[in-house]
Amino acid sequence: MEASVSGRRTLEQYQKRAKVLIERRRSKIHGWGVFAKTQIKRSTKIINYAGEKISQKESGKREEKYLEKGHIWCFELNSRWVRDAGVGGNIARFINHKCQPNCWIDIEDGIIWIRAARNIRKGEELSYDYETTGRRDIPCLCRRGCTNKL
Ligand SMILES: [Zn+2]
Repeated sequence: MEASVSGRRTLEQYQKRAKVLIERRRSKIHGWGVFAKTQIKRSTKIINYAGEKISQKESGKREEKYLEKGHIWCFELNSRWVRDAGVGGNIARFINHKCQPNCWIDIEDGIIWIRAARNIRKGEELSYDYETTGRRDIPCLCRRGCTNKL
């Protein structure tokens, strides 16, 4: 019990610090994006991808609705569980996909961490590889000429 309480407190501290590190702005890639407000050092835990923890089965139903609106908000934790940023999500859900991203995903005790893959400059847009496994019919816009689908 104690561990989960202190874990939650730590998450809050991370969320507070994230307000200093990142902000949401219009993106050239797609819709909203998340940008560095300051330099972010390599391997920094920038923010957790928040969202309701749901089963894969439930996620399948919700994802159909989200995809119709062009949102990819269901993030797979493992073969059983998914986090749905459509419910209780934070700014992390606006981080766009890139095939050559500057962040990576570190899943630890059910928490999805967005971490800096390298030093990120002030003003750079954050991105990570979604590694989607669903319908894969959304064209990737990460750079001119990218032929991948999400
Ligand atoms: Zn791409």
